[in-house]
Amino acid sequence: MKRYDAIIIGFGKGGKLLAAELANRNWKVAVIERSPEMYGGTCINVGCIPTKTMIHEAEFAERIYQDDYIKQSKLYSLALKRKDKLVTFLREKNVENLTGNPNITLYDGTASFVCEDTVKVTLTPGKDEESFELEGKEIFINTGSTPILPDIDGLRDSKYVYTSDTLLHADVLPQHLLIIGSGAIGLEFATMYAGFGSKVTILEAGKRFLPKADREIAEYMQESLKRKNIEIRLNARVQSLHDTADGITAAYTDASDGTPYFLEGDALLIATGRKPMMDDLHLEKARVQINAQGAIVVNEQLRTTVPHIWALGDVRGGEMYDYLSIDDSRIILNHLFGNKERSIDDRNPVPYAIFTDPPMAHIGLTEEDAVKRGYPIKISRLPASAIPRARTLQNMDGMLKAIVNTDTEKILGCSLFCINAPELINLVAFAIKTGQKSSALRNFIFTHPSMSEGLNGLFKAF
Ligand SMILES: Cc1cc2nc3c(=O)[nH]c(=O)nc-3n(C[C@H](O)[C@H](O)[C@H](O)COP(=O)(O)OP(=O)(O)OC[C@H]3O[C@@H](n4cnc5c(N)ncnc54)[C@H](O)[C@@H]3O)c2cc1C
Repeated sequence: MKRYDAIIIGFGKGGKLLAAELANRNWKVAVIERSPEMYGGTCINVGCIPTKTMIHEAEFAERIYQDDYIKQSKLYSLALKRKDKLVTFLREKNVENLTGNPNITLYDGTASFVCEDTVKVTLTPGKDEESFELEGKEIFINTGSTPILPDIDGLRDSKYVYTSDTLLHADVLPQHLLIIGSGAIGLEFATMYAGFGSKVTILEAGKRFLPKADREIAEYMQESLKRKNIEIRLNARVQSLHDTADGITAAYTDASDGTPYFLEGDALLIATGRKPMMDDLHLEKARVQINAQGAIVVNEQLRTTVPHIWALGDVRGGEMYDYLSIDDSRIILNHLFGNKERSIDDRNPVPYAIFTDPPMAHIGLTEEDAVKRGYPIKISRLPASAIPRARTLQNMDGMLKAIVNTDTEKILGCSLFCINAPELINLVAFAIKTGQKSSALRNFIFTHPSMSEGLNGLFKAF
């Protein structure tokens, strides 16, 4: 049996960074990845990169050929090809970076635990003779997450049902795309397909749109999406799906009054969240525990219930972002080689962004949260149209909002719904994390014309 200093299960974001750092310290590292189509992980293959590329393409498509389905379809096919080219480039680059290191061996196969220090690699699932075992001193689980498929009649039998992993492989632009779920993935796909000219209807079981977001910003966003031909039906509990001659019918009830509805589309995206990916791992054989939410139990250093087995990225549950998987790898490295001071508790508040058009980004508390916690607060709002750069970019839709503690003058939270919001929020995050008062952003010298200088205006009121 081959022995390694480290076995990394999953060639995902956190895992590949860890592999490179460990190998550079002369550790012998084995990386096991179940699918060559997933070299480099979710982000570059089916997550952040392909979706943001397609949203960018859709923004062009919308400006050029709105309401011309034939022309939009052609642009959609071209956009898919450009997206595929980029994904292939990044995947190859990732493999090159990993396998170029003599201390790293990449194994194709599905990993499962045999015991606490031994992992079986199965080349073809189900065929024992095509498997072998590896032993590792330290083992890192980085198996990511997988879409949650809700228990809806007809869902698994339909040929028109897709997940975010599969929809971008379908070369036909839907005329009417139905989406179940209005979280970040649902909204980003809605933006993308509406941009290419599809009618989009989102069925959301909850009664509040983006329940964790700032109420004012969420309402503003919902109105903006409506203007872009994206209809959001709240309280919509989907019961069954039926394929028809040329599409799919969703049967749902309005949870507020029980009224039944039927809605027809030609493709349906399931966007009801993701869950940690643990299929085939046989964690019980290594005595690695799972919590009630179905995620691997980790301590603040990311060690599982077995100290030499660690878990990083989506599989450890909680918020699932590419940048948290990266930070997880930093925390592990800090505990292996550094001062052991890093922890998953020292990185809050964590910003997030939803890439609609315009996008929304948020950090810290919402107004509702701040009031509930009893902070003395002052609020400032700025319409995106007040920022000259939004006008030069011809995207004046949106609203910026900040919440400041009146006693300490520290920024408690900020929600930005405007063009470039995913970039701008990093400036606010930097101010919050370095303990700046709101005056720091009010008086900061930003370039002109830029969306950043909008922060001067947003924080002027404090
Ligand atoms: C549509 C979509 C859009 C997203 N957009 C964003 C975004 O804009 N910004 C952002 O920050 N995040 C985004 N995310 C989330 C982000 O992609 C993930 O949080 C991140 O990629 C998770 O990385 P990871 O390190 O946990 O593992 P992953 O990158 O998911 O890698 C896990 C790897 O493990 C492999 N694997 C699984 N089981 C086994 C096994 N038993 N044996 C061997 N290999 C195995 C898988 O094939 C996979 O390659 C998006 C996700 C999706 C789905």
